[in-house]
Amino acid sequence: MKLSESDSQIYQLIKKEIEREEYSLILIASENYVGEDILDAMSCVLTNKYAEGYPSKRFYSGCRYLDEIESIAIDRAKELFKAEHANVQPHSGSSANMAVLHGVLKPGDRILGMDITHGGHLTHGARASFSGKFYSSFGYKVSRETEMIDYEEVERVAREVRPRLIIAGASAYPRFIDFERFRKIADSVGAYLMVDIAHIAGLVVAGEHPDPVRHAHFVTTTTHKTMRGPRGGLILCKEEFAKAIDAAVFPGIQGGPLMHVIAAKAVSLKNAMTDEFKEYQRQIIKNAKHLCASMEKKGYRIVSGGTDNHLFLVDLTSKNITGKEAQEALERSGIMLNRNLIPFDTKGPNITSGIRIGTPAVTTRGMKEPEMEIIAELIHRVLERIDDGAFQDEVKEEVKALCSRFPFYAKIYPL
Ligand code: PLP
Repeated sequence: MKLSESDSQIYQLIKKEIEREEYSLILIASENYVGEDILDAMSCVLTNKYAEGYPSKRFYSGCRYLDEIESIAIDRAKELFKAEHANVQPHSGSSANMAVLHGVLKPGDRILGMDITHGGHLTHGARASFSGKFYSSFGYKVSRETEMIDYEEVERVAREVRPRLIIAGASAYPRFIDFERFRKIADSVGAYLMVDIAHIAGLVVAGEHPDPVRHAHFVTTTTHKTMRGPRGGLILCKEEFAKAIDAAVFPGIQGGPLMHVIAAKAVSLKNAMTDEFKEYQRQIIKNAKHLCASMEKKGYRIVSGGTDNHLFLVDLTSKNITGKEAQEALERSGIMLNRNLIPFDTKGPNITSGIRIGTPAVTTRGMKEPEMEIIAELIHRVLERIDDGAFQDEVKEEVKALCSRFPFYAKIYPL
């Protein structure tokens, strides 16, 4: 039976979400639009099948085609990232990080990651997460002057803390990260280096961001951000850690793999090998730099003064607006982004002094520099009249008109 017949309530809500995505400007740095090929792979009969274990070492019968699919995904991941070993089973970026920590550390071991209030992820040692509860976690911060990672400070903290594992990588950091330097610091204190490229993986494979794979013991990523694949995780590591990592994923922290998602990961890894994908990543960065410069021209302070990647942070302190207020007014206007702490923020994570802006999704729609100027202007107008709901509704119509010029799901679904 079709979903529209068996559960019209859910069917209608999905239709509404397709429309929301089609007619909103998605500037959430961690989001993207997947293509029809990824949607096809994810919504197929592979969801039926149990395949605990790994190709040719399964605990269930009937895994012949799944073995082929997973092996293709693994081979593509190894080729694309030039990695010795790949595990494509983590259900998410958080599961990938959990598996690495579980695979090489003992509970209570010391870890050192980027402080969550300075751009790190929950799984890098935040108190609220398993990473801060099961391990003894410490954080490094960005420099107060440059708002960039101060490698001498990271080294100083590493010497003091003596961690078993150092985590490089972030959720809200607009600058290149020097992974070679991180490895030197890790070596100097006898720590493993795990690099989390969840946000920047697409830029890395396109050669638009320094590559961590040869420097790190472990590289983790999501497959759904700049990679433009299905929601999921991936781990890359040196051959010497292959067994420990595989065992940490299954049976360590997961049961049956999501084979429909693994098939979609394989498709996205193939897509990421094309010149079109490389050009897409270059345009993401061009768009981020252009949007960032356009905001700066309008008088907004940009954290660290700019961006090298797909995102940037805007400090709203001088405008007397909180990140929360900005997020809500922009959402009403059809512009989706998220409030974000800025380094040394005086406000809490629910209010914040800043917003995070990213360009992967709008770039997928085909928007380029001229549209970035229009977007900066739209954001500025909404923030200038932060309390004017009627005006925000008017802007929403302009956003819809702009989105209609760059159709994406309207090409696939009747809207
Ligand atoms: N690592 C980083 C750096 C992230 O930004 C994120 C998600 O935002 C994750 C890991 C976790 O990914 P997931 O949401 O798939 O668990």
